[in-house]
Amino acid sequence: MKLGACWYPEQHPESRWGDDVRRMSAAGLTLVRLGEFAWAALEPAPGEMDLAWLARAIDMAAEAGLGVVLGTPSAAPPRWLIRSHPEIRLVDVDGSPRAAGSRRMTCPTAPVYRESSARMARALVERFGHHPGVVAWQIDNEPGNHDSARCWCPACETAFRAWVAARYGELARLNDAWGTAFWSGQYGSWDELELPRRSSTVQSPSLLLAHRRFASHQVVSGLAEQRAIIAAGSAGRDILVNTYWDDTFVDARDVHEPAGIAAIDAYPHGVDGPEANAYLLDLARGSAGPSGRAWVMEQQPGPINWTALNPPVPPGQVRAWGWQAALHGMEASLFFSWRPTRSGQEQYHSGLVRHDGTDDRGLIEAAVLARELRAVADSAPEMLARPRARIAILHAYEDAWAIEIDPHQAGLTHRSLVQPVHAAVHRLGLDADILGPRDDLTGHTVVIAPALHLMSEDRLRRLREAIAAGALVILGPRSLVKDLDDCWLETPLPGGLAATLGAHVVESLSQTLPVTVVPGDAAAGPWTDVLEVDVADDDPEPVEVLARYGGPSYLAGSIAALRRGDLAYVGASSAEAWSTILAPLLIGRGLAVLPARVGVERFERGGRRIVLDHVALTIKGSPELDPGAA
Ligand SMILES: [Zn+2]
Repeated sequence: MKLGACWYPEQHPESRWGDDVRRMSAAGLTLVRLGEFAWAALEPAPGEMDLAWLARAIDMAAEAGLGVVLGTPSAAPPRWLIRSHPEIRLVDVDGSPRAAGSRRMTCPTAPVYRESSARMARALVERFGHHPGVVAWQIDNEPGNHDSARCWCPACETAFRAWVAARYGELARLNDAWGTAFWSGQYGSWDELELPRRSSTVQSPSLLLAHRRFASHQVVSGLAEQRAIIAAGSAGRDILVNTYWDDTFVDARDVHEPAGIAAIDAYPHGVDGPEANAYLLDLARGSAGPSGRAWVMEQQPGPINWTALNPPVPPGQVRAWGWQAALHGMEASLFFSWRPTRSGQEQYHSGLVRHDGTDDRGLIEAAVLARELRAVADSAPEMLARPRARIAILHAYEDAWAIEIDPHQAGLTHRSLVQPVHAAVHRLGLDADILGPRDDLTGHTVVIAPALHLMSEDRLRRLREAIAAGALVILGPRSLVKDLDDCWLETPLPGGLAATLGAHVVESLSQTLPVTVVPGDAAAGPWTDVLEVDVADDDPEPVEVLARYGGPSYLAGSIAALRRGDLAYVGASSAEAWSTILAPLLIGRGLAVLPARVGVERFERGGRRIVLDHVALTIKGSPELDPGAA
């Protein structure tokens, strides 16, 4: 794994630049990202390009031995552009346009914004497309972040109407698909189809889901325009987009897969700890599609500034985060950022050096990490090759949107259902690949769909193909409940697979009772499905009850998990319940399950067992591994 830093020469005096890049290189960094917020410095006035300073910065970085990742600046358009074309401002749901002065304040549909972004990409690639120091490109930054995919401007409304019309064809079909008879929501003409504005209570989930799909599509199509321009002028370089890892504003799979490589932020303090970090790293690899290639484009280097508490980062933590990224198969990790700014919105965000330019602990640990990674790459490169896992976990942004729109329990998200399953697998010492429901599912021994909320014939077909190929398929709570328009199925659940399962879901509960899972006494989690068996005990393929609910409530003794042949259903949602139920199922499929442990990740890499301890902040290997000695 290569290491690098995000660098903002336009925010610092030029007299500092040479020293900056030489120190990066001396610390063992080999990549530097720049340019992605520098639009106003690159185009200070309409039609007036100033690329000379950027050329000097790129030359300096290249001379210092750094590979440049050059960003297009569309995330931070200049004030003059917004002032001369106020229609490019993003309009929020309350009708107020976003002001200049921050970032991601533009409408993803606005033609002038799209054309201006393309113009900048063209200018950069014409000048630097063949520069030997430019090793990769980044388009935009964190698309969708700050809820910037959805826009309520007139251009978006017109485009949305056209998008819906193209998808459904006839109004009668739309009314039927969305079930608009509810609350007199029928559309009598296309003009009546409006963006989901604030009303007395929530808008129709079908409309909201369509709007999420449309908004993501608009962002992705804008990125594709820039990607095509860069690809045409800078052959042989990876063209990445950096997505804010925990966002669901855009479908990151649609963003990354066309490039065959993903890039994400990794700010472990922005999510709840190392298990969430592990999940999001694997999700990034999955978002790239079959290549599984991913970078961490922004890695937390110390305390950050944008969460509620921004806690301290103890010694050893930055190194441990680096190892976690490497062991999850990241190809590169760039720290954000090299040096904190004296001005602007992120002054409390640490960098690798301090405001006064002296080495911060992040830089010292980055240098150690760089030495260790080099030593391992020389002596045991197989340690850094992430093997294909035997377990696949399904993830889809459409399902995430549907659950966000109608969560049934405040605060419950798709991640809060999928991540515990990933955590359970990791606690048992195993890797998991994260796939999409459109992927071929036949290459894994076990396929787990923890929250495959939406049902389609294509999704069912792929699950059946996995079973036919010999996989064990395990569904989680609220799987195959609604159709692709977010309307409830009127067949026994899980929709399309209840007959195969020989059982069905009788209650889908937002769980507030003290319910546990037996065997064991793990809490069942915030969502619980209760199952009932449909086939007789002497059926040629009987149902095996794997777990029941316990605790002092009416649910005690009811079925929490069951299996019939190669299809299983787990109604509980906590990581503890999943690891209890999963362990025997995985052992039954020949997987080397370890006793469950929390706070420690255990990897099998090239015949070597590696233990990354997130509490002690140590990494140990068997046979002996001491990267620190390198
Ligand atoms: Zn708009």
